[in-house]
Amino acid sequence: MQFTDEMIRYIDESQLELKQLIRDLCRIPTPSGFERNRAEYCKCWLENNGCKGVYIDEVHNVICPYNVSEDNELVVFMAHTDTVFPDTEPMPFMETSDRFYAPGVCDDTANLAVMLICIRYFIQRGMQSRYGLIFAANSGEEGLGNLKGCRAIVERYGKRMRELITFDGVKLNAIVSRAVGSHRYRVTVRTEGGHSFSNFGNRNAIHVLASMIEMLYDVKVPRVGNSQTTYNVGKISGGTSVNTIAQEAQMLYEYRSDNNCCLETMQRMFESIVSAYRATGVEIEVEKIGDRPCAAGVDQERQQALLDNAAECVRDALSIEPSIHSGSTDCNIPLANGIPAICMSACQGSGCHTREEELELSSLPLGCSITMRFIAKYFV
Ligand SMILES: [Zn+2]
Repeated sequence: MQFTDEMIRYIDESQLELKQLIRDLCRIPTPSGFERNRAEYCKCWLENNGCKGVYIDEVHNVICPYNVSEDNELVVFMAHTDTVFPDTEPMPFMETSDRFYAPGVCDDTANLAVMLICIRYFIQRGMQSRYGLIFAANSGEEGLGNLKGCRAIVERYGKRMRELITFDGVKLNAIVSRAVGSHRYRVTVRTEGGHSFSNFGNRNAIHVLASMIEMLYDVKVPRVGNSQTTYNVGKISGGTSVNTIAQEAQMLYEYRSDNNCCLETMQRMFESIVSAYRATGVEIEVEKIGDRPCAAGVDQERQQALLDNAAECVRDALSIEPSIHSGSTDCNIPLANGIPAICMSACQGSGCHTREEELELSSLPLGCSITMRFIAKYFV
C-alpha cells in the first residue's frame, strides 16, 4: 500500500494525542525487569483503540497479533518498554514548546508511542496485511534485561518469522542493520584482607582488581576486515573502610564486536587474564550477566531488501540519505537466528541513557511519516 494523503492527515490530527501518550508513558517508571505497569498501560491502550487478542506474556511483553492464522508467515514490529533507570518512583518530566525532558523519553518511550499511533491507523480500518503481523511492546531490551523480551518472542514465533523490525534510537535517519554482539560479566575478587596496620602485606582485593583492570585495558582489540571491537569496565565497587585491607572488590566488564571471531578472541583474552590472576591464589568469581550474539546465517539478499525498504522510507520522509550502522539492539536475537531484522528510529533527541535525555518534538511528525510509510508496505 502506498503512503496516502489520508495518512498525512491522520499523522497531523494525531500529534496532540501522541504527545499526551508520551507524557503518560514517561510517568510509569519501567526499569528492566519491572515492565508490568507499562505493559498493562499499553495493553489497555491497544484494547481501547480496537485491537483484539492482545495479551501480556510471561516476561511482560505486550503482544498484539493482527491477521495471524494457524501457520501464516509473520512479521514482527516492536519497541521496548523498559528504560535503563532503576527508579521505581515516577521520574521528573519537563517540557518546553519544542522539547520534552525525561529519562527514557526517546529511548524508547517516544519510539513506542509513535509505533502505537501508527499501527492504530491500519488496525482500526481493518486493512488487509500481506503477512500475519505481531505488534509488540517488548520488555528487557536494556542492559541487564539481556534482550529477554525479544528472546521470548523469537522463541515463540521464530520458525514462522519472516522478518523483525524494531523502533529504537534517537536519530531519524539512522538504521541499524548489523548486530554488535557482546559479553558482559560481573567479576568479584576475594582476598584474605585484614587490618591495614597489623596485617599490612596481605593481599588487597581492590589492588588486585585494579591491576586486573589495568591488564584488561592493555588488550589490543582484534580486527577482521572493517570490524569494530570495544571493551569497557563500567562500574567498580568493594572494600570495607579506610583502615581495612579490602577482602572483596567487584567490577562490571563488557566487550563488544560486530564480528563473531573478534568476539571469541576477546573471550579468550578475558579468560586468560582471569586464569593468570587465579594462578596467584586469589579467588575470582566470574558471573556472565549478558550475552548478546552477533548475526549468523541470515539470507543476505533478504536482509538487504529489508534495509532497502527502510532506507527508501527515510529518504522519502526526510529527503536526506539514511545512515546505516552496527548496533546492539533487540535485532541481535533474530539476526543470530537467521531472521532478517533492522532497527529504525521514529523520533530524534539526545542524551540517551542519561537523566538529561531530551526529545525534539518537531521530529515526531517526521518519525510518524517514516513509520507509516514503512508499515504501509506490509498492507495490500
Ligand atoms: Zn532502546
